[in-house]
Amino acid sequence: MDFGLTKEQQELRAKVREFAEREVKPVASYNDENEIFDVDLTLKMSKLGLLGMCVSEDYGGHGLDVLSYIIAVEELARVDGSTAATIAAHNSLGIGPINDYGTEEQKMRYLPRLCNDRLWGFGLTEPTAGSDSRGTKTFANPVDDKWIINGSKMFITNSATSISMGSTIQTISGEVNGKPEFTTFLIENDTEGFTQKPVNRKMMWRASNTGELIFNNVQLDNANMLGARGQGSHIMLATLDSGRLSIGAMGLGCAQGAFEMALAYSKEREQFGKPICKFQAVSFMLADMATKIEAARGLLYKACRMKDLHLPFGKEAAMAKLYCSQVAAEVCDNAVQVMGGHGLLKDFDMERFYRDQRILQIGEGTSEILRIVISRYIGC
Ligand SMILES: Cc1cc2nc3c(=O)[nH]c(=O)nc-3n(C[C@H](O)[C@H](O)[C@H](O)COP(=O)(O)OP(=O)(O)OC[C@H]3O[C@@H](n4cnc5c(N)ncnc54)[C@H](O)[C@@H]3O)c2cc1C
Repeated sequence: MDFGLTKEQQELRAKVREFAEREVKPVASYNDENEIFDVDLTLKMSKLGLLGMCVSEDYGGHGLDVLSYIIAVEELARVDGSTAATIAAHNSLGIGPINDYGTEEQKMRYLPRLCNDRLWGFGLTEPTAGSDSRGTKTFANPVDDKWIINGSKMFITNSATSISMGSTIQTISGEVNGKPEFTTFLIENDTEGFTQKPVNRKMMWRASNTGELIFNNVQLDNANMLGARGQGSHIMLATLDSGRLSIGAMGLGCAQGAFEMALAYSKEREQFGKPICKFQAVSFMLADMATKIEAARGLLYKACRMKDLHLPFGKEAAMAKLYCSQVAAEVCDNAVQVMGGHGLLKDFDMERFYRDQRILQIGEGTSEILRIVISRYIGC
């Protein structure tokens, strides 16, 4: 599994796997069942070094490469999708844009806390603007030296917990040549007129926080602007390229965990006087799972290495996200098949994996949108 990884990357995998088995696995099912966002667990992950993994040590981060971060997300997802989602969304979507586009002042104000004990959301999606992010309706109106923000955001991960500090939001700030101008702002949760509400009763990632954000005449300064006026769409879409690597990691980890469960079960479960893995119909399903997981890992790690080498990686990230989420769906479906009726009981983790994988083909670009992105890259 660890072909081509450095000693440090292998050690990181072992460390996160041990943590996930010891700290995450025992609480994952309970938190899922009861829709608990686990603050204690999140702070323990911070102590392990999982917040601000790729941020420079100058801002309180851990200065790791992208592949190391992706391995950590993969290992968490091997045990629990919700926990992996908290870490993935925070590092890629929450911290990423501030780290990449923030001024020195913004980085010093936010990154040390976000690498330690606070979370940050990424507010692109709105009730009427999902795949079509240019359909944003949240408006930033310039009045004197302030910006007045009105509108709302939907489905924003990590935005509405007791340790959420704020969110990055895309707004329409005017019009240029008859087209909307998009500008991105950093908004802290205690800003007057800004409210955050948790979105509950999800099918999956039930222990991950999802929030609805409402802006009612919120006043922001130029100091809240991330990047330049009119650069908003670029910042949000570039952030999604990186975010797709971590959704890929969640698909890979989820598939790996489901495969391991199905394999172990197939060796123990006996029917017709022998373990079910001895039936070719079952062993071939497991062989296909193992093969697809290896292919997914190769594609994802290649995309991460390209990013680490500062090469363009948008096409590979889209392919990795598309393929890893598809593999997670296929592996979870077949893993339930291998486990028969037991795979459908909440007493087994498999049932949770089967639900958790479903978001991966929707969040951060649906599979349909990713195929559009990839088809543009290949010149269609
Ligand atoms: C748990 C959860 C967490 C999330 N976290 C965040 C977050 O942190 N930040 C954030 O900004 N968003 C977040 N999202 C939102 C997520 O990114 C969107 O759900 C996703 O982008 C799809 O948008 P939509 O749900 O509005 O679907 P729609 O865009 O309405 O799509 C519905 C269907 O139409 C298809 N479709 C749409 N346009 C086209 C087209 N041009 N061609 C072909 N098919 C098309 C889609 O593929 C899909 O099948 C989250 C969502 C969930 C469920």
